[in-house]
Amino acid sequence: MTEELTARNTEPFVICRDVRKSFGSNEVLRGISLEVKKGEVVVILGPSGSGKSTLLRCINHLETMDSGMITVGGEAIGYEMRNGELWEAPYPVVAKQRSRIGMVFQAFNLFPHLTVLENVMLFPVSVHHVPKDEAKKKALEILDRVGLADKANEYPRRLSGGQQQRVSIARALAIEPELLLFDEPTSALDPELVGEVLQTMKSLAEQGYTMIIVTHEIPFTREVADRVVFMADGVVVEEGAPDDVMVNPKTDRFRTFLSRYL
Ligand code: ADP
Ligand code: MG
Repeated sequence: MTEELTARNTEPFVICRDVRKSFGSNEVLRGISLEVKKGEVVVILGPSGSGKSTLLRCINHLETMDSGMITVGGEAIGYEMRNGELWEAPYPVVAKQRSRIGMVFQAFNLFPHLTVLENVMLFPVSVHHVPKDEAKKKALEILDRVGLADKANEYPRRLSGGQQQRVSIARALAIEPELLLFDEPTSALDPELVGEVLQTMKSLAEQGYTMIIVTHEIPFTREVADRVVFMADGVVVEEGAPDDVMVNPKTDRFRTFLSRYL
């Protein structure tokens, strides 16, 4: 039993294999391979334009890759098995795959006409058909976890940017995701509001969520990441444990990048 569990835990939960994506003649992802284990927190660092957002969007199938393969929990994103062959999946299958993945963007994208509680309940009720009272109970629990239970009946505009971003994290958690993707979640925030959002993410990491985070927050990365991936020009340039690669970068490229944030 123990052996079985160990074997399962070391199996990668997310696998990106030779992912390629171009926009016209702009080759944005040039063969990205990446593995993330269950419960692992991977931070992707890299200069602007290196393809970080595009990679996250491919994992969530908001973008279709040109070639390569992405699996999440053993399922090939955007594909389904039919008669032992992989076929492009129809929308309902893609939606189901996507519903296992929570994503938090730089812009909070909350619905302004809905309260905090209604924002968090929206997807479970309208997409996952969770009964309203059950969704409400769950949403309140999650809001409590991100420290916003007392804001449940407020409208987003009455909250600070940091609080709004914590609501969008709560909204991502409400679908009970198996994977959380964060795309520069603190980049749009005033400096004094960054800490509370990073603290919320740190607590999710401690709770064992599997997370892929694009950020420029270097001290946070050193503290929270199990592994760091440095991307530039659509390829993975370096990866490893933060205390290793961030202390002794092997390439000039990564060294220069880090020096700009220290
Ligand atoms: P990063 O997140 O690392 O800053 P992105 O993945 O956003 O990088 O972008 C990588 C490159 O892909 C950029 O040159 C950007 O202009 C281009 N790009 C991203 N999305 C699109 C799109 N939908 N259409 C055309 N070009 C795009
Ligand atoms: Mg980006």
